[in-house]
Amino acid sequence: MASEINDFSKLCVHTLTTKPWGIEDCVKNYSKAGIHGITIWRNVLENKNLAEVKSLLDDYGMTIVSLCRGGFFPSVDVAKRVLAIEDNLQAFEQAAAVGAPLIVLVCGADGGQSLEKSREQIAEGIVRLLPAARSAGIKLAIEPLHPMYAGDRSAINTMKQANDMAEMINSPWVGVAVDVYHLWWDDTLSAEIKRCASKDHLFAFHVCDWNVPTTDFLNDRGLMGDGCINIPEIRGWIEDAGFKGFNEVEIFSGKYWATDQTAYLEKIKKAYITKT
Ligand code: ZN
Repeated sequence: MASEINDFSKLCVHTLTTKPWGIEDCVKNYSKAGIHGITIWRNVLENKNLAEVKSLLDDYGMTIVSLCRGGFFPSVDVAKRVLAIEDNLQAFEQAAAVGAPLIVLVCGADGGQSLEKSREQIAEGIVRLLPAARSAGIKLAIEPLHPMYAGDRSAINTMKQANDMAEMINSPWVGVAVDVYHLWWDDTLSAEIKRCASKDHLFAFHVCDWNVPTTDFLNDRGLMGDGCINIPEIRGWIEDAGFKGFNEVEIFSGKYWATDQTAYLEKIKKAYITKT
């Protein structure tokens, strides 16, 4: 074990993973722990001076990997669809201010209409954002979500659906975020990752684990190694496909949020080296 080379250069932590911390604590503590990749959730930017956040990131040598999240396009209510576009345009402003090169999309769904209709509205919403993406130089990643969220959080539930949509939109600004939590069960995942990379659409890679049994559909994600996902295998597919980006640790966990976050960060580092 002494020969272990602990390479954290491609490790990124999502601010929501350490939810009890505000943006300042995240930046300072990640940096102190030798973690220099950060994905910022928009909740930590509320009521913040974004220029100051940008300076903080720069001062601590942080690389911002992405801003989470945009999306939530579909609704049976046209006024809500308009509001969603406005909210996404605001996300572009925030991303530009803090220097994020990518916005991750949780695409949304409305249980009051068909999944096909929701997907149509998702595609329309993304197309509406293309001029903003182009002018800001900020990409958009469609993140497929586990089918348990198809009723309310996302009508894009498989890698195939995400690939189909990215290819249909056919813009260098639109790609896909692969999250093992949402996709580990899919027997076409390896092939769809290859397909995604072959179109230059593979934009991001998120890791955590699937607890058995899962006690909460939202806030019971596991630390890598806690559950049943073969994360090294999926990471191998991603890397074989040519992905050179960050491995982003995104864990929503009431259990871990209740613990000391500095000690938790060390657990994350250990799990990253040994179980990812
Ligand atoms: Zn994710």
